[in-house]
Amino acid sequence: MSSFYQLLFEKKQRSEISIFGFADTDSWETDKRYPVSPRFYPASVYPNAKTAIVIGVPVILPIIETTPSVFYNEHYRTINAHLDSEALMLSYYLNDRKSLAMPIPRDGYAGAEALKKEPVSAFSHKHAAYHAGLGAFGRNNTLLTPEYGPRVRFTTILTSATFEELAVPDGAAKRIREMKEKRLCTECMACARFCPAGSISNDKEKPYPVSRIDKVKCTEYSTALGAKGISPCGVCIKVCPIGEDRKAFSRENIQIYDEESNEKSDGRSDEKSDGKRNGGKPKNEADDKLIQSWAHIRRYGTK
Ligand code: SF4
Ligand code: SF4
Repeated sequence: MSSFYQLLFEKKQRSEISIFGFADTDSWETDKRYPVSPRFYPASVYPNAKTAIVIGVPVILPIIETTPSVFYNEHYRTINAHLDSEALMLSYYLNDRKSLAMPIPRDGYAGAEALKKEPVSAFSHKHAAYHAGLGAFGRNNTLLTPEYGPRVRFTTILTSATFEELAVPDGAAKRIREMKEKRLCTECMACARFCPAGSISNDKEKPYPVSRIDKVKCTEYSTALGAKGISPCGVCIKVCPIGEDRKAFSRENIQIYDEESNEKSDGRSDEKSDGKRNGGKPKNEADDKLIQSWAHIRRYGTK
């Protein structure tokens, strides 16, 4: 097979995918730091699997900042469809070359109602991305990446091909090990503080995986948003300060989200304000424009 790694590299160069990695399926058994039940091992989904290929694209920061909104709802669905399409194409490529492959659907559950019955899907892309060395788990139970913090969505292709057959460069295993040693979460607790459903524990002594989010509360909140056509929530990935994307969009300081909350509690987020906020302190005009743009977007298109 011509270099599969090179194919992914070129896709990244063309911005069709933004991030990719490879995980040996034995990792689920040998690395027990973030354990999942054997029911969720790659072999339970596709017994021939030797490698999990993980691809990802970012959630674009100025869009997630509008959440909950129709903009984010559509963006989320578009990203899922894009990832499913890329995974399908890559699986066809592998299957045509006799390296049997199976794309795992991006979400794998039939909406929030299904999650209420069973709040997990048959396979975790997040754990696949961890085993591929793409990031580190955070307090908000997502995988934080250096590039986009938690604002990245992944999907996985399981294949019978080995690292060698996929032409994964030497040194990949070392890079995976190094990433697994990294801590990206700063325990700033912004995700817990801003979570509108109170789903994330504030107990600093109990980071993930000891403390997991309350999926029932999270799902109920998302269901309520879904009734208005503006799910999912995503506030915990919006406010996380980790990720180079924050620098690119000049949004390293997350205080703007506090300012927005203060403005909302003043009941002025949808109105032209009087030039003051936070107890009469002068406001920053650029921040004000941003906050007003989010309010504008949220005002339209909701059921
Ligand atoms: S998605 Fe929303 S409700 Fe769920 S944990 Fe994150 S902030 Fe909380
Ligand atoms: S918001 Fe803070 S505590 Fe939450 S995941 Fe990000 S860095 Fe960790």
